[in-house]
Amino acid sequence: MAQDILDTKIEFLKGIGPRKAELLNNELTIHTFRDLVQHYPFRHEDRSQFYDIGEITEDYPYVQLKGYITQVQVSGKKHKKRLTALLRDSSGMVELIWFRSVDWIQKNLQKGRMYIVYGKPNMYGKRFSIPHPEYELFDPQKQREGTLYPVYHSTEKLRKFSLESKFISKHLQKLFELYFHKINETLPQEVVQKYRFISRREALKNIHFPTSIQALQKAKTRLKFEELFYLQIQLLQIRTDRKEKFKAQQLRKTTLLTEFYKNHLPFDLTNAQKRVIREIYQDVGSGDQMNRLLQGDVGSGKTIVAFIAMLMAIDGNSQACMMAPTEILADQHFTGLKEFADLLGLKIAKLTGSSKTSERRIIHEQLLSGELNIIVGTHALIEDTVDFQNLGLCVIDEQHRFGVAQRAKLWAKSSKGHPHMLVMTATPIPRTLAMTLYGDLDVSIIDELPAGRKPIKTIHKYDSSRLAVFGSMKKQIEEGRQVYVVYPLIEESETLDYKNLQDGYESICRAFPNVPISIVHGKMKPKDKDYEMQRFVRNKTKIMVATTVIEVGVNVPNATVMVIENSERFGLAQLHQLRGRVGRGADQSFCILMSSYKLSKEARFRIETMVRTNNGFEIADADLKLRGPGDLHGTQQSGIVNLKLADIAKDQLILRQARETASAILEKDSKLQSPDYQIIIEYLKKFRNLEAEWERIS
Ligand code: ADP
Ligand code: MG
Repeated sequence: MAQDILDTKIEFLKGIGPRKAELLNNELTIHTFRDLVQHYPFRHEDRSQFYDIGEITEDYPYVQLKGYITQVQVSGKKHKKRLTALLRDSSGMVELIWFRSVDWIQKNLQKGRMYIVYGKPNMYGKRFSIPHPEYELFDPQKQREGTLYPVYHSTEKLRKFSLESKFISKHLQKLFELYFHKINETLPQEVVQKYRFISRREALKNIHFPTSIQALQKAKTRLKFEELFYLQIQLLQIRTDRKEKFKAQQLRKTTLLTEFYKNHLPFDLTNAQKRVIREIYQDVGSGDQMNRLLQGDVGSGKTIVAFIAMLMAIDGNSQACMMAPTEILADQHFTGLKEFADLLGLKIAKLTGSSKTSERRIIHEQLLSGELNIIVGTHALIEDTVDFQNLGLCVIDEQHRFGVAQRAKLWAKSSKGHPHMLVMTATPIPRTLAMTLYGDLDVSIIDELPAGRKPIKTIHKYDSSRLAVFGSMKKQIEEGRQVYVVYPLIEESETLDYKNLQDGYESICRAFPNVPISIVHGKMKPKDKDYEMQRFVRNKTKIMVATTVIEVGVNVPNATVMVIENSERFGLAQLHQLRGRVGRGADQSFCILMSSYKLSKEARFRIETMVRTNNGFEIADADLKLRGPGDLHGTQQSGIVNLKLADIAKDQLILRQARETASAILEKDSKLQSPDYQIIIEYLKKFRNLEAEWERIS
C-alpha cells in the first residue's frame, strides 16, 4: 500500500513544533496531517464581492466595500483618542472607526482616494459603523485571486497563544504547498469519472482555499460523496454478511393465506398493501432471514399486512409474535388480530405485564408445545422465561419505542434459525434517510390510504375561539361521534402541565354537563388508564381528555374530532401521530389545533404545515428540515451517523447517488476483487468504523 502522507504527525509540518502540536492535539484533536486537512472551515469570507453601502443590514456579518474616503477626523485625547473616517459609494455612506494606532492610520489614510474596506458593521442608534476594518487602496491592476478566505473554529486557549483561524489557514497553505501531489485518491476511477468529480487532493485544497463559489461547491460535493459512499459500502456489506451468516426458515406454503384471501378478507387491499405483501413473501421464501422495515402512514393498514405475514409463518409450521410498546396497543392488536385468527381457527393469546401468573404458565406451555400460533404482547415477550417451539416471524410495532438490543433479544428466541423480523413504524422518514438509519433493514412503504377515506380537515384556532370549538364538538357528539382533547405534557413543566390538563378537564365538564367524559394521563395506574380507555373505545364516554399517552396506535373509528391544546408546543411528528387517531372511519374528521396568539416562527411553520398537508412523508420532510436528522429516532442509538461534512437531511441527492454507486459496485463484485476496487479495500482497512457497533447489535 502506498505511503499515505496524511498519516504524518502534525508536529512534522514546517512551523509546528512539539509545543504547538500538543496544543492542537488537546484543543482540536488534530494529531496528523489528515486531521488538519479535515479541520474544515465552517465558513468562507467572500472577498470576491463588494456590497453597496446602502444595502448593509444588521444581518451582515462581514462586508467588503469599495468607496471613497471623504473625511478623516481625530477626536479625543490620549487613551480616548479615536479616528473616524467616512467611506462613501454611490449608494450611501458608512463610518469607519479606529481606537488604536490612530496616529499611524491618520498618516496613511488618504482623503479622496478609493479604498477597499473589509469589516463587521455595527449598528449604533440608526447608523452603521465599522470598527477597525481592514483597508487597502484600490488598485485596478491588481488581480483579486483566491477571493474566498476560510474561517476556522478555534478555542479560547488557542486564541491566547495566537493559534487562531489565520494560523490554521497559514499551515494548511504550507501543507498543500509541500505535499499536494502526495495526497492519494480514495475513490475508484470509474466513480470519479462517472460523476466528474475533481480529484481528492483538489477537493481537499479547494474546500479550504477555493477560487470561486463553484470550486467550493465542487469540493464539498466530492467530499460529502466520499463520506456517504463509504458509509453505504459498509452498511451494505454488513447486510450481506448477515444474510450469509444467519439463515432462516424458508416459508413458501400458502394454504392458510389462500383461504384467508378467498373467504375472509374484510376489504380489498390497497395496491400498496399488495406490493408490500409480495415483498415480504419474497423475503421469507428466500431462505435468508428477513429484516424488513415497514413504513406506513397512520391508518394506512399495516396491521392486516402483519397478519398476512403471520399466516406465511404459520403455513410453514412455525409461530408468530407481535410486540407492541404499550398494554393499550397490545390489547388493540390482540383484539384486531383475534377476529382474523378466529375465522381461520388459529390459536392466539396475549401476554403483558399484567397477565396473571396462572395465565402466564399456560401461555408458556402452549408456546413451547406449539399449540399457540400467535402471541401478542408487550416487553413481557422478551423475558427469558418465554420460549417458543418454533418462532418463525416476529412483528414489532412502532419501532422507535424499542431499542435495537431488544430487537436482538427476540432473534435469539428460536432454536431453528433466526425468526424473520418485520418492524413496523408509523413515523415515516424519507427513504434515503431510512436506508442510512436502518441500513441493516430492507424498507417497504405503504404510501396509499384505503379508498373511501375522507382526508382529515385540519384547522388552526386561537384560544379565544374556544367557545366556537366547544360548539363544533357538541354538534359532532350530537351526531353520535366521539372527540379527543389532548394536552401537552413535558417533564420540565410537568406540574403546570398537569394543572392545565385538570383545568381543561373541569371546564369541559362544565361545558358538557350531560356528556360522559373520560380522562387519561400518565400518572394514573395502568389498570385505571386501561379502564378509562376501554370505556371510550366502547363508546361509553364521548370525550377523551388526555395527554399524549394516546399518541400511538389507538383505533376508535367513531372518533372524528381531535382537539390539540397548546399545539404550538408539539413537534410535527407528534402532531401528525395525534391527528392520525381520527379519520379512521367513513365520516368526515377534523383536527383542531389550538394555540395562543404568540407563535414563534417555527411553531407557525409547524401549524401551517399541518393545515396544508395530511401526507406523513411530506411532514417528515418538513420536520427534518426544521430539526435536522440528529433528533430522529434511531440516530443516536445506532451511532452510525458520524459525518463531518455530509448532512443526511440536506444532502439527499448525494446520499442517493452514493447508495446507488455502492450498491452497483457490490453487486458487480461483492468481494471487491477487481484491481480498480483495491482502493476501496484499503480505505476500509484503515477507516472501517461500523463493524464493532453492528456486531454488538447482532
Ligand atoms: P395503521 O397502519 O395505522 O396501523 P391499521 O392497520 O390500524 O393502520 O388500519 C387502520 C384502519 O383501516 C383499520 O380499521 C383497518 O381495518 C382499516 N383498513 C386497513 N386496510 C384497509 C383497506 N385496504 N381497505 C379498507 N380499510 C382498511
Ligand atoms: Mg397501527
